[in-house]
Amino acid sequence: SLADRLNGVFDSLRGRGALQEDDVRAAMREVRIALLEADVALPVVRRFIDKVTEQAVGQQVLRSVTPGQQVIKIVNDALVEMLGGGDEDASRLDLDAKPPVVIMMVGLQGSGKTTSTAKIAKRLREKEGKKVLMASLDVNRPAAQEQLAVLGQQADVATLPIVAGQQPVEIANRALQAARLQSFDVLMLDTAGRLHVDEALMAEMKAVASVAVPREVLLVVDALSGQDAVNVAQSFTGEVPLTGVVLTRMDGDARGGATLSMRAVTGKPIKFAGTGEKLDAIEEFHAVRVANRILGMGDIVSIVEKAAESVKAEDAERLAKRMEKGEFDLNDLRMQLQQMTKMGGLGALAGMMPGMKKAKQAMAASNMDDRVLLRMDAIISSMTPDERAKPALLNAKRKRRVAAGSGVEVQDVNKVLKMHQEMSKAMKQIKKMGGLKGLGALFG
Ligand code: GDP
Ligand code: MG
Repeated sequence: SLADRLNGVFDSLRGRGALQEDDVRAAMREVRIALLEADVALPVVRRFIDKVTEQAVGQQVLRSVTPGQQVIKIVNDALVEMLGGGDEDASRLDLDAKPPVVIMMVGLQGSGKTTSTAKIAKRLREKEGKKVLMASLDVNRPAAQEQLAVLGQQADVATLPIVAGQQPVEIANRALQAARLQSFDVLMLDTAGRLHVDEALMAEMKAVASVAVPREVLLVVDALSGQDAVNVAQSFTGEVPLTGVVLTRMDGDARGGATLSMRAVTGKPIKFAGTGEKLDAIEEFHAVRVANRILGMGDIVSIVEKAAESVKAEDAERLAKRMEKGEFDLNDLRMQLQQMTKMGGLGALAGMMPGMKKAKQAMAASNMDDRVLLRMDAIISSMTPDERAKPALLNAKRKRRVAAGSGVEVQDVNKVLKMHQEMSKAMKQIKKMGGLKGLGALFG
């Protein structure tokens, strides 16, 4: 994966202070290949690489991660940003207008317009309680209007009655009138496509847009069509007032590259991702998920992120030293519990750390869940500093005091002590396996 390759590039400079330009450039060659393999358009790749290089060169390497991991994080963050991440509002449908709010769907034939129209309509009805009317303006393809009517029945969404012989603009006017008269909240216009972008298609889209005054004009593109998708997006941009993109067939083996290109070429947010033929197979767009998909590396990013966020490198080193000397007391255990809580609790940690299998088994054996983490923290807080440093001091009387102080039973205090013992043991084992550095970095 890209993650392995980047770590390879940086192998030689582990432990050095700042990311050097030559090393970053070498790493960016790998990123470039990965992006092209993921089907990102070349000009978009170039722009991206320049930006990331500029950001990465000279950055101080965090002590708790490798330089390779750190570059992966920089690349990942830049991807998320370029995909519009962080701007959650932009990727939501804008229905803030006088009803009926018009949503117009445009795109090539077969891109998934009709299906997406029904999917979005169903969603608006189910999730937002909207009263939605759908109308097909596709007079080119035989039975296109009937197709939408059938989907409407499946989705339990109203469709405009079909009148033979009408042209798209006439149908749009009739739909608007019906939507007003019957007080629909939303009117969705499913338009005709062509096999290729041509002037007749653009003229028709413009004419419809000028009578319907849509609040949203969503360009529907097939994520699997790769470079073609970019050309299509380019042709529509500037011709019709696009407000967003729907990427269909994200369930196929598209690696997500089209997403990045689409966002960069249109400058418009991706609003939905189609993930199958069924009417429920549509998702809101998640920049983070797509970035992970493009880089093909899943958990690495979250490990680095969490390490950077919640672990101070110096603390990690201090703990590592203590552990090397076999000093692991209840203060250390408490610090680890707090880190675990910050890092997303036990569930998030499971599977992330191969070296932690033993300790995890010990936790599982003592029936731990995330509330237990907090309770253990409370128990340790009720101990004196002496008791934390020397757990052996905790005789029956002291245990009763601690239990009373933290509102638990003595057996819960015993569980913490047992857990501490198990973890000390497990850590000695990990040390033998040579996993100490990684562990220290993660657990701090
Ligand atoms: P239109 O010509 O743009 O209206 O495209 P349609 O909505 O008729 O869709 C064309 C084909 O693509 C149909 O067979 C749909 O079931 C299929 N389709 C649409 N969206 C998706 C999707 O997200 N995933 C998959 N696998 N198929 C889709
Ligand atoms: Mg259609």
